[in-house]
Amino acid sequence: AIELRDLRKRYGEQEVLRGVTLTVERGEKIVLCGPSGSGKSTLIRCINGLERHDGGTIAVNGVTLEADGRGVQDVRREVGMVFQHFNLFPHMTVLENCTFAPRQALGLSAAAAAERAMHHLARVRIADQAGKFPAQLSGGQQQRVAIARALCMDPRIMLFDEPTSALDPEMVAEVLQVMEELAAQGMTMLCVTHEMGFARHVADRCVFLDGGEIVEQAGAERFFVAPESDRLKRFLRQML
Ligand code: ATP
Ligand code: MG
Repeated sequence: AIELRDLRKRYGEQEVLRGVTLTVERGEKIVLCGPSGSGKSTLIRCINGLERHDGGTIAVNGVTLEADGRGVQDVRREVGMVFQHFNLFPHMTVLENCTFAPRQALGLSAAAAAERAMHHLARVRIADQAGKFPAQLSGGQQQRVAIARALCMDPRIMLFDEPTSALDPEMVAEVLQVMEELAAQGMTMLCVTHEMGFARHVADRCVFLDGGEIVEQAGAERFFVAPESDRLKRFLRQML
């Protein structure tokens, strides 16, 4: 589970997270959405320690991530992350991208890491491209590799930050499909996405962040069909 209590983050004078309290239970799938600049990426990045929070508490599977960074190694063992821009290592093959961290951080042998990588690459249906470099793949393929790479660390929670928003429209579906399968297999997921179909099929709960605060949350059906707050209504009107 992810437990955020009164989470606060500022950049200089700007308060980007203004007391966010959110729990993601084990096995739960949460979709996080909100306008540009509302703090979605900052929230996700605080959870795995890519940004330091200034106040409140973060706990991941019972491990506390302190504001000074203590606990970050333990937390990162629990969570995998997938970014908007894939962030694959350009000078490594697909297979090497997937074996690097398990070998370095988990101490797996080359053979064990490769076996694990091929398992996850098959899961995202890209095992046949294992010898290629990222630049030789389409955006959708690269993003599926990024998902496989995260899975190779055997995380119990997956964080996604707009994984499809840099993709050409025809490649969005293949990535969402992989995410849906992951969800169906019981992964705990916190996903920043504006993909409404995904939210409706997969999300147990949709959370609307605006101005660094959670303004509204509900099951996908009510969230999209019968929003309560004016801010969410306005946001949904602009999205459609
Ligand atoms: P988007 O939908 O555009 O991705 P977001 O909801 O993910 O937006 P964040 O990236 O979390 O928003 O940014 C929230 C606010 O924090 C923005 O006003 C942004 O300019 C500011 N911000 C983010 N990162 C930094 C940084 N490293 N230094 C200073 N300000 C930052
Ligand atoms: Mg963002």
